[in-house]
Amino acid sequence: MSPMLEDRFGRRIRNLRISLTDRCNFRCTYCMPEDGLSWLPIPSLLTFDEVERLARIGVGLGIDKIRLTGGEPTLRPGLEELVARLARVPGLRDLSLTTNAFRLADLAEGLAKAGLHRINVSLDSLVRERFQELTRRDALDRVHEGLRVAAHVFPGDLKINVVVMRGVNDDEVVPFAEMARRRGWIVRFIEFMPLDADQSWQREQVVSGAEILAQIQERYPLSPALSQDPSQPALDWVFEDGRGRVGFINSVTEPFCAACDRVRITADGKMRTCLFATRETDFLELLRNGAGDDAIEARLREAIYWKELGHGINDPEFIPASRSMSQIGG
Ligand code: SAM
Ligand code: SF4
Repeated sequence: MSPMLEDRFGRRIRNLRISLTDRCNFRCTYCMPEDGLSWLPIPSLLTFDEVERLARIGVGLGIDKIRLTGGEPTLRPGLEELVARLARVPGLRDLSLTTNAFRLADLAEGLAKAGLHRINVSLDSLVRERFQELTRRDALDRVHEGLRVAAHVFPGDLKINVVVMRGVNDDEVVPFAEMARRRGWIVRFIEFMPLDADQSWQREQVVSGAEILAQIQERYPLSPALSQDPSQPALDWVFEDGRGRVGFINSVTEPFCAACDRVRITADGKMRTCLFATRETDFLELLRNGAGDDAIEARLREAIYWKELGHGINDPEFIPASRSMSQIGG
């Protein structure tokens, strides 16, 4: 048996996303309903001891990247302590966080000191009123402040994720590209996926990465980046005048499932081997029933072995995910 985690199609799994909470201080329209989503009870969230244990076992089997996410991970009390604990796990090469940046001005420095390597910030509009419509919070100024502090603390290691939706924010593609040029942050355009809690996703709302690229090209010539990280779903392009870089995550129009090396653990300890998985593997129950590391390792191998071949969004029989992105951990 391979000492590493591998699925039945020979894909090596190196990348683990851990959700720390399903709660959020925003209500992005493409992710959460305006209200009425019930939260997981606090006792059912993985404790820091449990997260660290799963991480240690996973890293021992070849996981070398961990991203903390949610919901909004900065709402989890003691985040700094957890980061410090994970940063000490031997063999973990990359420890990162995805956040809406609302609390980043206060937290970025402590997180960097605790050992966090990188931050991805989700930001879908640079226009105050539109930002408010999209997130249902009037918080753009605080996000800018969070970005300012994070850029200082994590120079060169800050990425901006933009979900582009037709008729909503597709007229901001060029301003976001200009942000990449001006600030030196990698801006990554993400195709809208059927992961909204309201289940109102429509294919027509998806703006393809190819379309976004063409829009930017009209203004600023771009070439494919020579150095692509093969483990990243993003295809990077560089501005030909050397000023910055943008990326495209074309999950709907150009699925990268064949090279997918990631799995997710929800805040309540369920492993999902695909965003669109129809089944989950429970680790919470195992951890709380006194299982030894061998039993946890065996369940990890088993869950990963059956990882889905592809997400199937484009198949006629596609079934939308049973949980929203905020509940899975994006
Ligand atoms: N709250 C944090 C944030 O927004 O960065 C972390 C969790 S959020 C669920 C993780 C990522 O999922 C964000 O970049 C968000 O834009 C993305 N996301 C949420 N719903 C999505 C959807 N329907 N399609 C594509 N991306 C989505
Ligand atoms: Fe919250 Fe992130 Fe979902 Fe927006 S995308 S509602 S910030 S979890």
